[in-house]
Amino acid sequence: MELKLPFDLKDVKPGEFSYLTKRILTNREGEETGKLFIWRKTGEEEYNYVMICPYCGGEQGGATVFTRRPYRIRCSKCDKSVVIPKLKNEGKKKKK
Ligand SMILES: [Zn+2]
Repeated sequence: MELKLPFDLKDVKPGEFSYLTKRILTNREGEETGKLFIWRKTGEEEYNYVMICPYCGGEQGGATVFTRRPYRIRCSKCDKSVVIPKLKNEGKKKKK
């Protein structure tokens, strides 16, 4: 099960993306059955993603603006809400 990206990572120029990461997604049993790739182009609000749903194995992609944590993507095939593991560059703005 491999996730296909709409671009080649070798073609990515430095500074082209402000965010780019790959995540492993787990199902309710904790098995690593899904994958997620999220990226955001520099200067854009929206995150783009491609995902293999950990619950149904359905592959899909789209663009979204995350507003509330935890961030979720709803699978268009099985309608389950997939929680995205915390993004690394979050929470740096506000320190308690
Ligand atoms: Zn699904």
